Amino acid sequence: MARTRQQKQSWIGWLLFSDLWRALRLTLRYMFSRIITHRYPDHEKWLPYHRHRGHHFMKTNDEGDVNCVGCELCAKICPCDCITVVPYEDEKGNRRPKVFDIDLARCLYCGLCEDACPADAIKLGQEYEVATTSAEALVVHLEDLIAAPRKAEEGAGTVIPASLAKDGSGKTIAQANVKGYDWWQLLKRQK
Ligand code: SF4
Ligand code: SF4
Repeated sequence: MARTRQQKQSWIGWLLFSDLWRALRLTLRYMFSRIITHRYPDHEKWLPYHRHRGHHFMKTNDEGDVNCVGCELCAKICPCDCITVVPYEDEKGNRRPKVFDIDLARCLYCGLCEDACPADAIKLGQEYEVATTSAEALVVHLEDLIAAPRKAEEGAGTVIPASLAKDGSGKTIAQANVKGYDWWQLLKRQK
């Protein structure tokens, strides 16, 4: 993760252009360090960290019912107005969503819907390959949200071998049972 810090500049530093020399030193370090190229999407795929906010998913309970109680709080708090919830009452008298749509074309992945949800139902997962040429395909429904990938259980933050799917979906398929490597550690950064 990127870190920032404030450095106090003395008058000697101002006089000797210390900021300029420091910047030049950093530039030269990058010029002569090993070039790292992430070979995405043809050969590699990044597994996002747990804190990554990607494609939403809907949690279900042990009986297979969605956790959502159709309260519409997520739709109300969404700054992009991209969630549509239509509630109904099921045979057990529980309030559930009849319609739960999210327009990913409008979503800015802020996570406010996840924060506002009182039922721990809507979450932002690890999926980030949502590019498509069809605006309609970006409107995801309840069944898509239930089936959407969850957070990575292991290997988060690493890069694993993967290949681009041939079905035109624009997704990469990870190879099974492979260990990832920490791509970020390969980047030389100033301490
Ligand atoms: S992540 Fe933010 S913009 Fe996207 S649906 Fe949730 S509240 Fe709306
Ligand atoms: S996902 Fe959560 S906040 Fe949104 S309607 Fe369902 S219970 Fe309410």
